[in-house]
Amino acid sequence: MKLVLMGLPGAGKGTQAEKIVEKYNIPHISTGDMFRAAMKMNTDLGVEAKSYIDKGNLVPDEVTNGIVRERLAENDAKNGFLLDGFPRTVEQAKALEQILSDLGTELDAVININVDKDILVKRLAGRWICPTCGKTYHEIYNPPKTQGICDEDGSELYQREDDKKETVENRLNVNLKQTEPLLNFYKETGKLHNINGEQEIDDVFCDVEKILASF
Ligand code: ADP
Ligand code: ADP
Repeated sequence: MKLVLMGLPGAGKGTQAEKIVEKYNIPHISTGDMFRAAMKMNTDLGVEAKSYIDKGNLVPDEVTNGIVRERLAENDAKNGFLLDGFPRTVEQAKALEQILSDLGTELDAVININVDKDILVKRLAGRWICPTCGKTYHEIYNPPKTQGICDEDGSELYQREDDKKETVENRLNVNLKQTEPLLNFYKETGKLHNINGEQEIDDVFCDVEKILASF
């Protein structure tokens, strides 16, 4: 199963990705997670990515497409993958078609999670993340069993710098502008599936499963 998961920041991509990769046994490939890991390790990639991410801007295509090409060529992605946070632009979507065609394959489906902007701001403001396993929580909608502590591994949860109100608005606006042409691109390929992301987490996943059942 070769999938792309789309949706604005806070739509629930990470939350649904966790359920999808567990059920279908495919790797979760998140460009945002890859950049954050590189920033944490202070690699050249991390330093470059940080200069864009801290301002709420996108990392340039040549950098982003390059890390995706390398990642998709790895063995564990041969039988399927879930891309999350990539592609973000039509240029990246075209680059992805080329990358996959070079690997002799193509996408099965693109799942787009729809959520209103006002709800997204609330979700991001209350998001807490585990630095060890990447699991996301929400202080109200999806709290951990013990406040501030990851259910899976006991790590202390943190809030993302770019989830703070000042950068969130810019991030949502940058994303909104990029998303429309991208959705049109995938609509034309016939691979786009829209999901209502304003439901409970488990109900959103039910809709995802219904779509994936046909593959
Ligand atoms: P994304 O990866 O799309 O940015 P996340 O999966 O990290 O989004 O979700 C953003 C925040 O909203 C998290 O705090 C998460 O726990 C919460 N969340 C995710 N899905 C839902 C939902 N269906 N209803 C309420 N809160 C949700
Ligand atoms: P979000 O979707 O919540 O903004 P991500 O975790 O997907 O967050 O990404 C964090 C940041 O990493 C983005 O704001 C952006 O600067 C950068 N980034 C991630 N994916 C891409 C991409 N496909 N193209 C360009 N920049 C990206």
